[in-house]
Amino acid sequence: MSNQSVNPVMHTYGRFPITLVEGKGSYVWDDEGEKYLDYSSGIATCNLGHVPEVVEKAVQEQLSKLWHCSNLYHIPTQERLAEALTKNSCGDQVFFCNSGAEANEAAIKIAKKYGHDVLGQEAPTIITFNNSFHGRTMATLSATGQKKIQDGFAPLTPGFDYLPFNDYQALEKLKEKKPVAVLLELVQGEGGVIPADLTWVKQLEAICKEHDILLMIDEIQTGIGRTGKLFAYQHYGIEPDVISIAKGLGSGFPIGAIIAKEYVANVFSPGTHGSTFGGNPIVTTAGLATINHLTQTNVLEEANEIAEYLWAKLEQLVSDKQEIKSVRGKGLLIGLETEGKAIDYVNKAREEHQLLIIVAGPQIVRILPPLTTTKEEVDEFIGKINKIFQ
Ligand SMILES: *Cc1c(COP(=O)(O)O)cnc(C)c1O
Repeated sequence: MSNQSVNPVMHTYGRFPITLVEGKGSYVWDDEGEKYLDYSSGIATCNLGHVPEVVEKAVQEQLSKLWHCSNLYHIPTQERLAEALTKNSCGDQVFFCNSGAEANEAAIKIAKKYGHDVLGQEAPTIITFNNSFHGRTMATLSATGQKKIQDGFAPLTPGFDYLPFNDYQALEKLKEKKPVAVLLELVQGEGGVIPADLTWVKQLEAICKEHDILLMIDEIQTGIGRTGKLFAYQHYGIEPDVISIAKGLGSGFPIGAIIAKEYVANVFSPGTHGSTFGGNPIVTTAGLATINHLTQTNVLEEANEIAEYLWAKLEQLVSDKQEIKSVRGKGLLIGLETEGKAIDYVNKAREEHQLLIIVAGPQIVRILPPLTTTKEEVDEFIGKINKIFQ
C-alpha cells in the first residue's frame, strides 16, 4: 500500500509553493487566481510567451490529423523544420530528439563516431569547460564541468576532459590534448550567465579548424532568439560543426535537435542513432511555427529594441542599488550579480511582488523575459525590481 503522506512525485526539484494553471503572453496565473509577471519563461523555453497564437493554431490543426507515427516513416513537418533550421544556420542536416540532454547526447555520439570513423581515433575525447552545464543524463552530466552536478553519480562516463572557460592558456592546452571535439555554451547559463569573450571564441575556433577538432556549440539555452539572434554563435562570426538546441525550439513542446555540417552528419547511418518520439508531428509542428515566426516576422528586431531598453534600466539600477552589483549576459538572457543570496530575492519577488525570476548561482538572479515582452511590461518589471532590491 502506498503511503498517502508521501508526494508521489520524486523530490528532484525544490519547488516553489505555487501552482500555475494558466498562461498568456508574459503572464501566468496560479490556482488561486493570482497573476504573476513571468520573467523566467519556463527556463528560457516559452520564448514567444505563454500559449502564443501562431503555435497554438498550428498544433491544434495537427492534433486532429496525426500525433505520432515513429521515425520509420517520413514526417513532413520534421522535414520542413529541418529545412528551416538549416536555412537559418550554418548547418546542413538535423537530428531530432526530445530534450536538451538528449540533443547533447547526440552531439557526443556523433563526435565520437567522427573520431572513430573519420580520424581513426581509438578513444576520442571531448573537451568541455569548467562551470558549464550540458544536462542530467550520465553522459551529459559527465560532460558538465561542475562537481555539484556530478557528485554521487560516479563512475562517470569516460571520454571527457575539462578546461577553464574564457582562459587563453587553456587554448594552448587544447592543442596538446588533441580531442575530437570541444563542446561549449557561448553564454554559460546555469553556471551563472557568463558570456564567452569574442576574441577567445575566435581563437578557439581557429585552433579547432587548424587541428581538426570539431567545434560543438550548446545553444540549448542561448538559441532560438534568446540572445538577440536566432543562435548565439551568430554574434561571434564563427561556424560551428555541431549545434545543439532544445528549450525554446518548441515554445514549450518537448523537442531537441542537433544541426550539423554535412561532413559530420555523414557518420550517422541507419541504425547508429535514433529516438522513438524524436521530431514527431506534434512537436515539429510547434517547432516549425516557432522558427517561422522568429524568422519571418520582426519579432527578433522588436526583442532587440526591448532588450536595449531593459539593459539601460538595469545598468541604471546597478549604480542606484547597493544590492545589485552588476548585470551581465546577452539579449534577454540576463544575470544580476547580487549582494545577498539570489534565492532570497527570487522568493521576495514571487511572494511580495508577483514576479517570477530564477537563480543561476548562489548570488546570481537570472532574468529570462519572453522575447515578445513589451515596454509596458519592462516598466512594470523595473518597478518591482526597485522594490525588491535596496
Ligand atoms: C537546459 C540545458 C540543458 C539540458 O536540457 P534538458 O532539456 O533539461 O535536458 C543542456 N545544456 C544547456 C546549456 C541548458 O541550458
